[in-house]
Amino acid sequence: MSTDLDTAVRRIVEVPKLLVALDFDGTVAPFTDNPADSRSLADAHLAVIRLWQLRQTTVAYVSGRALDSLRAVADAPRGLLLVGSHGAQVQLESGAEDPQPLNTQTVRDVSDLGTRLENLIARVPGAWIEHKPVGAVLHTRNVPDDQAADLQRQAREIIAQELPVARVLPGHDVLEFSLKQTDKGQAVQRLREHVHADAVFYAGDDRTDEDVFRSLGKGDLGVHVGDGRTAAEYSVADPRALANVLMGMAALRRRHLTLTENL
Ligand SMILES: [Mg+2]
Repeated sequence: MSTDLDTAVRRIVEVPKLLVALDFDGTVAPFTDNPADSRSLADAHLAVIRLWQLRQTTVAYVSGRALDSLRAVADAPRGLLLVGSHGAQVQLESGAEDPQPLNTQTVRDVSDLGTRLENLIARVPGAWIEHKPVGAVLHTRNVPDDQAADLQRQAREIIAQELPVARVLPGHDVLEFSLKQTDKGQAVQRLREHVHADAVFYAGDDRTDEDVFRSLGKGDLGVHVGDGRTAAEYSVADPRALANVLMGMAALRRRHLTLTENL
């Protein structure tokens, strides 16, 4: 961990109420060819459990995955906050999904979107479509690079023409189309208000995480995982490096809470 990041972590663990919000894939879990096989690194998972056990500390996963898919891979303890579909699905402490009903037009658009993408990939081996409650994702990880780029370009063109209301969310080997006008930045803001957090720690690796980094304020801490340009204050190389940051943060937060317990 760089000294600057270490200093920033030491500062943030001293706030009264802390929200630790984490993207899942590519952040606590390394990428896998099949998204269903994705799991957090042992240290990242342990750090999440340790933080979750502490008072005045809330942990959340904020993922692009549909909520069911996130639940299946995250192995999250009860009470951990879960955000799925880039903010379109939210599960607060009760364990029940926060209902955000969709209107008839949106339901129709989601179905239309799925059909158009399925037609596009029908004859492309390796490509597949993930259907989500408020959108669909074109997966191209198992398609040769040049063919993947071509497929993504065609998908963009078709959807821009036929369903201009859909938002495009590019990611690592995925191209997502969402019909819900929300983003991870708004979702984290909502969690912040829900738990009355004094500061937010956020870590993520992908383009959609940039909405969160841009929304962070003074006193918050954003850590980007991987290379590339980012609005986050700090970057670490990979999920393994982030797991170390989280382990350090869990230990420092515990120590701080113990020291201030009887004040
Ligand atoms: Mg990610």
